[in-house]
Amino acid sequence: MVDRAQVADGLAPLDSRAEAANVSLSQDETVALSELFAVISERESVTALPIDRERIIAAYRFAEDHHRDQKRRSGEEFISHPVSVATICAGLGLDTESLVAALLHDTVEDTEASIGEIDELFGAEVASLVDGVTKLDALAFKSRNEAQAENYRKMIVAMATDIRVILLKLADRLHNMRTISSMPKQKQVEKSRETLEIYAPIAHRLGIHAIKWELEDLAFAALHPRKYSEIKGLVNQQRQAREQYVTMAGELLQTELEKLSVEAEISGRAKHFYSIYSKMTKKDREFNEIYDLTAMRVTVGSIKDCYGAVGVIHSLWKPLPGRFKDMIAMPKANRYQSLHTTVIGPEGLPLEIQIRTREMHETAEYGVAAHWSYKDQLAGAAPGTPTSETKLTWLRSMLEWQQELADPDEFVGNLREELDEDEEEVFVFTPEGEVRSLASGATPLDFAYEIHTELGHRCVGAKVNGKLVPLGYELRSGDRVEVLTGRRERGPSRDWLAMVTTTRARKKITQWFSAESREDAERNGREMLQAQLRSSGLPVQKITGSPLLAAVIREMGFRRTEDFYVALGGSKISAKVVVAKIIAQLGQGKAAEPEPAAGEVLEDDRAAPRVPSGSSEELGIKVEGTDRVMLRLAKCCHPVPGDGIVGYVSLGRGITIHREDCRNVKALRKDPQRFVKVDWEGDNQAGFLAEVHVDAWDRHRLLEDLTRTIGEQGASIVEARCLDHRPMVANRFVIEVADTGVLKATIGRLRAVESVFDAYRVTPGA
Ligand code: MN
Repeated sequence: MVDRAQVADGLAPLDSRAEAANVSLSQDETVALSELFAVISERESVTALPIDRERIIAAYRFAEDHHRDQKRRSGEEFISHPVSVATICAGLGLDTESLVAALLHDTVEDTEASIGEIDELFGAEVASLVDGVTKLDALAFKSRNEAQAENYRKMIVAMATDIRVILLKLADRLHNMRTISSMPKQKQVEKSRETLEIYAPIAHRLGIHAIKWELEDLAFAALHPRKYSEIKGLVNQQRQAREQYVTMAGELLQTELEKLSVEAEISGRAKHFYSIYSKMTKKDREFNEIYDLTAMRVTVGSIKDCYGAVGVIHSLWKPLPGRFKDMIAMPKANRYQSLHTTVIGPEGLPLEIQIRTREMHETAEYGVAAHWSYKDQLAGAAPGTPTSETKLTWLRSMLEWQQELADPDEFVGNLREELDEDEEEVFVFTPEGEVRSLASGATPLDFAYEIHTELGHRCVGAKVNGKLVPLGYELRSGDRVEVLTGRRERGPSRDWLAMVTTTRARKKITQWFSAESREDAERNGREMLQAQLRSSGLPVQKITGSPLLAAVIREMGFRRTEDFYVALGGSKISAKVVVAKIIAQLGQGKAAEPEPAAGEVLEDDRAAPRVPSGSSEELGIKVEGTDRVMLRLAKCCHPVPGDGIVGYVSLGRGITIHREDCRNVKALRKDPQRFVKVDWEGDNQAGFLAEVHVDAWDRHRLLEDLTRTIGEQGASIVEARCLDHRPMVANRFVIEVADTGVLKATIGRLRAVESVFDAYRVTPGA
């Protein structure tokens, strides 16, 4: 390990420094690292902060070795990329750890190297920086929606545990954008959009304008190459005339300011191509209509002089109305301060002028970082127009800030506050790649309710990053969350209240249990039944409130009319099924009957249970070869969607559908030519009959509880028989269900009824 003091000692030329590091470089290595070392030396001469070259060389060798067989699209060796990223970081003035991490930043992602290996060889700090960059690389931004982009930017900041991770990522993106022309067109478009929507705004928010402008111009050139070269041509064409104009106006202003003994430095200001283009498109202007192509910057010593100067400017030239902005009294969120005005200058041409102090100028160039920088040290350095050298200065101040702040977390904490007052947030992805923000501590249940109330109510489990997790799992920024749902709305359970963090989820769950939601459901239920009666051409007024409806309600297992309507409104039972029952009763001229007592044989006096029959479409069954054929569901085995089925051509009565394991099918097999292949398909419009057996110890109100349980599951009872074998009772129900899912749920609930010890489906084959 080299002595840091020795490295920092004096301004020895590069070669002797490499010797001081006691590492001899091969000729290839000397070439590959020459620019990086030159930038490091240049930076060291300003900051007097030593960079450990031995570690840089070790990192270079590790990266070079691991990337050896890889080439960039441009045909260059891959290693040129991490070296360039490190060079950008060095120019910014980042420390040794950051430069080492920059050299290694793609090794974990793209080679066999592991974080553990980096930790061992280069230390925990470097490993955590590389890990941070690798994690940011794994995020894929797809949406083009602005709100999504904002969340995505916040996610990046939330995920970076160290400000240097963001700086490394910006440097990485900058180099990729500088070399984007070798990428396929589609990739260029994607990366450029991402740069404009995500990375340039982050640089802007941090106040790092030099990086922001370069990213924007590179992305603009890739997205709109013709527009870019057109604007560039126009800007260059007028450059000379513009410079003369600014010089002339500047001299005039300088003279006036001297009369008031205001010392000012006046310069022309380069406009960036993308900002010209944005103005043209946002304000729908032609190039010649852009006012502020010609811009002037006036730098003075104090705030008082800023206002003094703007007074002189406005008395010299007529200001354009609505163009004066006081961003000294009202600084921007990223701490930018200046006075802006546009005037009709000499020769009657518009002239945009910015007035600021040297300190404000520093902030404009170095952004957030400048706030913590050694102001005295830098204030003396007169910044000119943004050249490649001044572009790098902001990072020097960043470095100084890092020395000043003992705790790196403090800065990230401050930064997050800057970007967002509410730092208690996590940012996660939907399966479609959208970003959602949730309160920190949020779980997959919060996420489900955030997406949609219905999704929450139907949630049965969740996957995070492809793995099953408990519903109470605490989400972390960057997680990809997938909610697993049941076929039907099950509704929340009370213990979910302990698993949710967001007010939205809590509210939705509480509501579900509240009386209010019962009332809503009840009202909906009444409306649904009325609508269904109306569409079936039945007299709504006569039927609702009739003993006939009361009988149907009881038959379906409801003791109270309200419960029936709540179940209907909550889609637990179907209005169609209810109306079908009403029609059946009307057809037989039936009136309401008292509820039969438990133990009694409940055989419905409609001679036999209804055998659902209908077209293939109505039953949701596809018949191979034909579609317009009458189908009947076999009475012997009651097939239900989800069962394996066969079709048997019965003479003159269409096709009978049996379960394939039905005993009768075995007997009919002697006539194989009469069997046709059938399958469930689409939604059935009718219910299906299934037979369920329930064994229980007899008790008071058992039958009532069983019938209510069946009704609550959306099934309805077509036939019931109770066989008394004291103290046992065997109950047989033929119930109408939509599919095997409802059937299974019903059986599951029946098993949970008090005193029931078994419940199962009766199939003739089994
Ligand atoms: Mn990279």
